[in-house]
Amino acid sequence: MFKNVLTATDVREFKIWMEWADRFVILTHIGPDGDAIGSSLALCALLRGRGKNAVVITPDHAPDFLSWLPGFNDIVVYDDDPKTCDDLIYQADVLCGLDFNTVSRIDRAAASFVYSKARKIMLDHHPFPGTNFDVVISHPELSSASELLFNFICAIGLFKSITTDIATCIYTGIMTDTGGFSYSSSDPNLFVIVSRLLETGVDKDAAYAHVFHSYTQSRLRLQGFALNEKMQIFEDCSTALITLSADEMQRYECRKGDTEGLVNMPLQIQGIKMSVFLREDPERKLIRLSARSVGAVPCNRFASDFYGGGGHLNAAGAEFKGTLKQAVKRFMDGLKQWKSSDDAEIRELFVNKR
Ligand code: MN
Repeated sequence: MFKNVLTATDVREFKIWMEWADRFVILTHIGPDGDAIGSSLALCALLRGRGKNAVVITPDHAPDFLSWLPGFNDIVVYDDDPKTCDDLIYQADVLCGLDFNTVSRIDRAAASFVYSKARKIMLDHHPFPGTNFDVVISHPELSSASELLFNFICAIGLFKSITTDIATCIYTGIMTDTGGFSYSSSDPNLFVIVSRLLETGVDKDAAYAHVFHSYTQSRLRLQGFALNEKMQIFEDCSTALITLSADEMQRYECRKGDTEGLVNMPLQIQGIKMSVFLREDPERKLIRLSARSVGAVPCNRFASDFYGGGGHLNAAGAEFKGTLKQAVKRFMDGLKQWKSSDDAEIRELFVNKR
């Protein structure tokens, strides 16, 4: 039996908004991933099914491997048309923020979001929810915003409105944020939800193939290059580092999303407990950091202590203003600083040597 983490009281305000509001704008984070797009498209389709005016706005483009999702072509990209997006945000009755915890995550859309007079609701699973929302529904213990959205839809009494298309979007969000159910997915309740989604006719094998078996030849070769020539292992720190410069990515015709998942790969090495990936983003003239860790090792603290970023305990990110070389130096200094830490969770990296 499915146990809902939300009650009718948690969603009472939104239920009222559902009555009178007409224009809903759904926003999600920059560099949208499967969970961001899946949850946003699912909520958008649900609202449209209820006769509402609903649209999804993303700060920048979503990767191609999500383009098969129902409703994907209706997404409005802020970078492409800031004026239209600002108008939509200002004219909205309700703004729904999915899969992000602070407005800085919606990048250039943040200003109009903050100043819009619309009612604002956050549905998210990242720790430390920020301000600027009227209603905050934050559940960091859940696998994904998509899992939270399923709870939300049931709590507002609309389970029966979940079509195959909506279920496919929710399923894809859960599947991507758990790495195909390989992490953050030990809660039996999650599989009750998956079961309900499959009952609506979701083709889970097709979803998997669309997302995980859609590499271009050059993407696989880029991965080979990164692992073979760019991965450094710091055995005494149980840590791996991969860096990619803009030139290197260009050499492999790297497209948006092509480096997705790369940061997870070094964790396949026995004894590696933290993996950091630094790549140049020439468009925004900064360095992007992704970090992953296992067990109690807090990679979100590595991202926040040394790069001003944050995220989940085992999956975090940051943006670094500087060169790749400076970002690598920061990494080396950070590891050195952590070596003398007394924190039991950080010590995990420096004990149990093979
Ligand atoms: Mn997510």
